[in-house]
Amino acid sequence: MKAFSYLTTKGEPRIGVQTPEGLLNFTQLWGYFKELKNFPRAPELPFLQLMVELDYFSEETFAEVIAAVREYRSLDDIIIREPFSWQLPVQRPTKILCLGRNYRAHAAELNNTVPEAPMYFAKVPSSLLPHQGHIRIPAGVGRVDHELELALVIGKRGANIPESKAMEHVAGYTIANDITAREMQREEQKKGKPWTLAKGMDTFCPLGPWLVPAGSVADPHNLTLELKVDGEVRQKGSTADMVYGIPELIAYISRYMTLEPGDLLLTGTPEGVGPIQPGNRIEGSIDGLGTLENGVVQAGSD
Ligand code: MG
Repeated sequence: MKAFSYLTTKGEPRIGVQTPEGLLNFTQLWGYFKELKNFPRAPELPFLQLMVELDYFSEETFAEVIAAVREYRSLDDIIIREPFSWQLPVQRPTKILCLGRNYRAHAAELNNTVPEAPMYFAKVPSSLLPHQGHIRIPAGVGRVDHELELALVIGKRGANIPESKAMEHVAGYTIANDITAREMQREEQKKGKPWTLAKGMDTFCPLGPWLVPAGSVADPHNLTLELKVDGEVRQKGSTADMVYGIPELIAYISRYMTLEPGDLLLTGTPEGVGPIQPGNRIEGSIDGLGTLENGVVQAGSD
């Protein structure tokens, strides 16, 4: 089961869901379901993040709603046939928490050692970019790298979450590209400065296309990641090689920061990071989560 947020050609926000019949307009399905079950006061569901915040985002909800509506009417007019534009799976997280050096081979390729505790930094929400959007590289920033990462979306608020309960706080998974102005980051590091700018520019956090409910991912610690630039494989790894797994990451950060529904956690990148250039086409794939595609342009040129 895979879900996504999209805009119709009229600019209306919708949730879509992939089924054997095709892509279905889940916002419309939900409307029929409310009518059928006599839930007139239940909210409309135009965005995935709202579904996550209401704790409705699960494989079970999608399956129940589709089955109930199918019983009393055809799904034919609910199939998405018009063109649409992909939107972010979550559009306004309170924070985007990211891991540095969470894969040994990647730490080594940048001459870094593996940290003694999870090494967190943050990206800013305004850096988010949907599937098929263009990464915009400002003039004069030097080398800019791709970093393909498994991202998870928090579904349940929590602080001081024990490792044993951590997975209950994950609503679902998606794909992120932690775009990094590498030269600028190195300069900042040398001067003992933070990396906020190198990691946080507009469009430097491509995310999507799908949000897959946690229940649909059998083992998030055994997924192959692969990133291609213009069709050539640059990164290939497995989430099995993460230094700190998801329960440890959630337990650690939630000692210091309350996790909110819709928050994003980027779990780090495997080896093979490298530069991107205007004109490149970047495709990041993770088992069962689809492929996140983005072009690259010089800022100011589109
Ligand atoms: Mg990264």
